Amino acid sequence: MKLKVFEIFKSIQGEGIDTGLPMVFVRLAGCNRKCWFCDTKYSWENGSFIEVEELSSQILKMGLDRICWTGGEPLLQSKGISEVIEKIKEISPNKCLSHYLETNGDQINKETLSFLNLFQRVVVSPKDYQTAKRVRELLIELPRHFWEIKVLWINGSESELEFATVVMPITTGDRERDKETAIRCVKWCIENNKRFSPRVSVWLGIK
Ligand code: SF4
Repeated sequence: MKLKVFEIFKSIQGEGIDTGLPMVFVRLAGCNRKCWFCDTKYSWENGSFIEVEELSSQILKMGLDRICWTGGEPLLQSKGISEVIEKIKEISPNKCLSHYLETNGDQINKETLSFLNLFQRVVVSPKDYQTAKRVRELLIELPRHFWEIKVLWINGSESELEFATVVMPITTGDRERDKETAIRCVKWCIENNKRFSPRVSVWLGIK
């Protein structure tokens, strides 16, 4: 089986509860949404097909013990992900690797919920109110440390913020404007008792 991969790289986690942790990022290509604010539009159409075995060895060669599956929307290739996770265990049975997932949540439902057990943590960034509500109702049954609902703060009126456990300011690439937005977002988080997430990678201009 092959997965369509846009890129594999090492970095720190730049957002959310795991900010600062070094990880191998596997950015899978393709997404079922076309959000106007998407900062990974380049991954929607491009990418290369890589066999499970080859991808597993590329990940292992990176030498880190945390792997973040991101996109695009990685759950569009969930079968491939589970095969890679199995293959990594087979190639390297003594390594204790942890897998993390970043998803828009559209593919999460009662039937797919058990798939999430493959991961150390699942971070869902729902893009509308109904998805946020639906995902929250499903995840609430699972241990709290296992999941996050991370919502993008645009102007504080996003309806899905109601279900957020962590809130992250939108960025535009304009440093002054982004700083002002982040400060307004911090104030909003204090007023609304929500956890604020920095955007370390975007702010530093690193991957
Ligand atoms: S769901 Fe995420 S990856 Fe897909 S278009 Fe929206 S922001 Fe981009």
